Amino acid sequence: MRTLDDLLAEEVAGRRVLVRADLNVPLEDGRITDDRRIRAGVPTLRRLTDAGARVVVTAHLGRPEGGSDPRLSLAPVAVRLGELFGAAVPLAEPGGKAAATVDALADGGLVLLENIRFDPRETSKDDAERAALAHELADLAGADGAFVSDGFGVVHRKQASVYDVARELPAYAGDLVLTEVAVLRTLAGDAQRPYVVVLGGSKVSDKLGVMTALQPKVDAVLVGGGMCFTFLAAQGHGVGDSLLEADQIEACRGFLDSGKIVLPPDVVVADAVAADAAHDVVPADAIPDGRVGLDIGPAGVARFAEALGDARTVFWNGPMGVFELAPFATGTRGVAQAIEAATRRGATTVVGGGDSAAAIRALGRDEAGYTHISTGGGASLEYLEGKALPGLVVLENP
Ligand code: ADP
Ligand code: MG
Repeated sequence: MRTLDDLLAEEVAGRRVLVRADLNVPLEDGRITDDRRIRAGVPTLRRLTDAGARVVVTAHLGRPEGGSDPRLSLAPVAVRLGELFGAAVPLAEPGGKAAATVDALADGGLVLLENIRFDPRETSKDDAERAALAHELADLAGADGAFVSDGFGVVHRKQASVYDVARELPAYAGDLVLTEVAVLRTLAGDAQRPYVVVLGGSKVSDKLGVMTALQPKVDAVLVGGGMCFTFLAAQGHGVGDSLLEADQIEACRGFLDSGKIVLPPDVVVADAVAADAAHDVVPADAIPDGRVGLDIGPAGVARFAEALGDARTVFWNGPMGVFELAPFATGTRGVAQAIEAATRRGATTVVGGGDSAAAIRALGRDEAGYTHISTGGGASLEYLEGKALPGLVVLENP
């Protein structure tokens, strides 16, 4: 795989470099609520502009349905990118106008193209349609142009600006992609033991693949979040109105047979999924009918902290409860603290998953308390599942 270092070893001053970044940040009323992905993308852009390249950034925001949608404009992202970058970043509309803006770039300049998913060809299943868009993107970079793939959060997508364009231009992996891949390669390969995986979030079915792939390599899998109730059901316990995936009970039994699954001994149950609902801690094998489990309990936090106590490697995906509602954030906070303690002891601790990363920030935890917080939710899980990610494969075999 050619890398940004390889590209910079060539002459890039004056050349146009197309960079696919992942700038898909959460917005509320047009305001960015979490700019981590933009910050994570800046180092690669900075290295290129410092070397005198004319940088054209392409990215997406959300999932526009069938064409432009002003609510999903990258305009606020361009503003924030400009602040972080230290110079205003123009936002180029697609089509002919983009070519004019790109032509006007000076050496060391940066332009952001409007949401690439406004063009339905970006996500088309039709190879020729995607290739046509990729060709237009490559044209913007020109005859001596290059492509840098740095949007780790999208490398699992076979899309025009991720996959097809890497076949149109000399393609290089950016620093963010390299960092993410290096960390995940360790987790998927021979990580230091004890190796503990902490899983939560809403659905077992989302995590089966990663559990299957990692289970043989790890010492323990701590299961909290909504998915623990299907495991409790697999042990024969009633789970009240908690999240339950009946069609996954059999799969959970299989995992329980491995002897590596650790479940919380207690859970927090509520009358409803609401911040003001009455709630209590109950033993995990005595969840009353009509109540819904929304967090692991204090004994669960203690049990998980104990299992993390001597871990050398930790992978965490999925919050322990409905952390978005303050009364049910305690388990997630407790597990975060236990993982931060592992980091301080020298363990390698990695967080994957969009909501898990959001939880860390929403709960005011220090990001420096973790070895690595992945910017890619689906991409990191698919990597750990051992799947071939099109945006990485194409960099290896253009
Ligand atoms: P990630 O994005 O980190 O992979 P997921 O998308 O799998 O995580 O899950 C995140 C969601 O899981 C959160 O929105 C959280 O509210 C929800 N969740 C956690 N625990 C429960 C629970 N006990 N019942 C229902 N939802 C839960
Ligand atoms: Mg999620």
